[in-house]
Amino acid sequence: MSPLRVAVFAGRLLLALLLSVSAHAADAGSTVFELPAAERIYLEEFSRHVDLLEDPQGKLSLDRVVHSSFAPGSLKAANIGFTSSVWWARVTFRNSGPREREIFLRQTYPLIDYLDVYEQLGPEQWRSHETGDRRPFAARDIAHRDFVFPIHVPAQGERVVYLRYQSQGPIDISLSLFSSPELLESLSREQLAYGIYYGCVIMLLVWSSLVFIAVRDRAFLAYFAYVGTFGLYMLIHNGLAYQYLWPESPRWGNTSLVAFINIALFAGLQFSRMILRAKEVTPRLDLAARGLQAVAAALLLAAPFVPYSAIIAPVAGLVLIGVIFMLVMGTAAMLLGSRPARFYVIAWSSFLCGSVVFLLKTFGVLPHTFFTQNGWQIGSLLEMILLSMTLSTRMNELQHQSRTDPLTLLGNRRLFDDKLPQEFALAREEQKPLSLLVLDVDHFKGYNDRHGHARGDQAIKAVANALRKFGRKPFVACRYGGEEFTVILPGIDCSTASVMSERLRRTVEETLHGDLAITISVGYACLSRGDFENAEKLFEAADSALYRAKQEGRNCVVAFHDRAPEAQEPPVQRAATS
Ligand code: GH3
Ligand code: MG
Ligand code: MG
Repeated sequence: MSPLRVAVFAGRLLLALLLSVSAHAADAGSTVFELPAAERIYLEEFSRHVDLLEDPQGKLSLDRVVHSSFAPGSLKAANIGFTSSVWWARVTFRNSGPREREIFLRQTYPLIDYLDVYEQLGPEQWRSHETGDRRPFAARDIAHRDFVFPIHVPAQGERVVYLRYQSQGPIDISLSLFSSPELLESLSREQLAYGIYYGCVIMLLVWSSLVFIAVRDRAFLAYFAYVGTFGLYMLIHNGLAYQYLWPESPRWGNTSLVAFINIALFAGLQFSRMILRAKEVTPRLDLAARGLQAVAAALLLAAPFVPYSAIIAPVAGLVLIGVIFMLVMGTAAMLLGSRPARFYVIAWSSFLCGSVVFLLKTFGVLPHTFFTQNGWQIGSLLEMILLSMTLSTRMNELQHQSRTDPLTLLGNRRLFDDKLPQEFALAREEQKPLSLLVLDVDHFKGYNDRHGHARGDQAIKAVANALRKFGRKPFVACRYGGEEFTVILPGIDCSTASVMSERLRRTVEETLHGDLAITISVGYACLSRGDFENAEKLFEAADSALYRAKQEGRNCVVAFHDRAPEAQEPPVQRAATS
C-alpha cells in the first residue's frame, strides 16, 4: 500500500469518525418521541423521554435555549429538589399518522411557582401557556389541580415542546402523557381516591369534635386540630386548596403551605404529649417536644415575612425531625407500659413507611404502582385512623377510671348504679336468680376517732380485699360510699346468698385483730323472695335489711323478706362471737 493510499484511508477514517461524533452530538440534542399508532396513550413516566437543561442564572431567553445543548433525560422523574436554577425540559413529538393528534402533557407535582410551556408551531412561531402556582389559577388551560397542557401534533409532522420550571420550593419534573380518554379515566380514578381520603378526614373531624363536646377531654381537641390542619396541608399539597379555596390568591397559596404544616406539627406534638401523658411518663421528652413546638411556632410567625425560599427548607427539616421525634416519644411511652402508646407507635410507623415508599418510588427504586404513588397519602390516612384508636383506648381508660374507686380499686357508686339495673333486667328476662348484698362497717366513726383516719382507710381497704375474693365476675363488688359496700350476685339464689354473706362477715371479722379489729353488718335481698318492681326497689330492700342488722346489734347478716318470716330461714344470723 502506497503512502498516499494510506493517507487517504486514514483521512476517510478520521472523517467518518468525526461525522459519527457529530451525528451522536445531534442525537443527544433532540429526543424524538414517536406517537404510537394506537389511539390510546398512557405513559405514566414520561419524564424519561425529555431532555433537560439547567440555567443557573435563570436568564436564558427562549431563543438562547433553543440553541443550547440539552442533556438527554433518562430519569423516570427528575426530582431535582431545592434549586435556585431554572430548569428546561424539551421533547419533540412525531406523528407519522394521517390525522392530527391531540395529546395531554401533565405535570403531576402541582407546587411549581412558574411553569411555562412553549410549543413551536413554525420557524419563529410559538404558542405559550404560562402557569404555575404563583400565577392566578385562571391562567391554566384546563382547570385542574395539576398542570395539564393540551398539545396538537400535526399529521405527518413534528411538534417541539419546551417546558420552563422555576420554583423556590423543590422542582420535581414529573410528567405523564395521555390521550383524552385515558386522561378522563385517570382523573376519575383519582377523584374516587381523593373522595375516600378527604371523606375519612371529615368523618374523623366530625367524630372527634362530637366526642370532645361530650367528654370535654382536650386530647380530642388536639386531635381535631391535628387532623384538620394536616388535612388542609394535604389539600394544599395536592393543589386542590388552590383550585377550590383561594384560586385568586397565589401569594397566600404559597404561604399557607408553610403555615399549615407548622400548625399541624404543633398540634400533632400537642396531641402526642397529651395522649402519651408525656409530662408524667417521659418528662425530658416532653420538654424536648415543647422545644419543637416553640420552633414550629416561630417558623409560623416568620412565614409571612421571610421569603418562601428561605423558610421552606428549615420547615421541611423540622417536620422530618418532628415525625422521628414523635416515634421516639411513643416508643419510650410504650416501653414504660402506656396502652395508648401501642396504637400511637403503629400509627407513626405507618406514616413513615408510606413516606419512605413514596420517596423510593420518586427516586425510581420502587416501581410506580397505585400504592407507591399514593404511599404517603395512604400512610397518613392509616396514621390518622390509628391515632383515633389511641383516643378510644384513652376513652376506655377514662371510663374505667370514672367507675373505679381510687382508694379500694373496687367499682364505685357509678358502676353500681349502671350495673344493678342491667343485671336486674337480665335476671328477669332469663328467669334466673339474682341477689344483692349491702354492707356497712360497724361503729366506724368511733374507729376513726380512736385510730385516726389513715388506719380507718386501712380498714376500708381490708374490707375491700375480703370483698374482692368473691367479687370476681360475674359478681360485682362496689364501694357504695364511705364505709358502705354492695355486692351484686347474678345467678345466686337466696340460700347461697345467705351462706356467702355469712362467710363474708366472718372473713372481715378475722382479717384484723385485737384493737384494730372491725366488724360489718350485712343486709341482703333476692329477686326470688320479693315482688320487686325494679332494681331500685331491690336495693331499698337490701338496705332495709342492713338497717335491721344494725338494729339487731350489728356484726350479723339479715335477709329481706316481704312474706311471712316463718316460711324462710331465720332472718337474723347471729355471729357466734357476738
Ligand atoms: P354504724 O355502725 O351505725 O354504721 O356506725 P358508724 O360509726 O359506722 O356510722 P356511720 O356509718 O354513719 O359513719 C360512717 C363514718 O365513716 C363517718 C366517716 O368518718 C367514716 N368514713 C367515711 N368514709 C371514710 C373514708 O374514706 N375513710 C375513713 N377513714 N373514714 C371514712
Ligand atoms: Mg358504719
Ligand atoms: Mg355508714
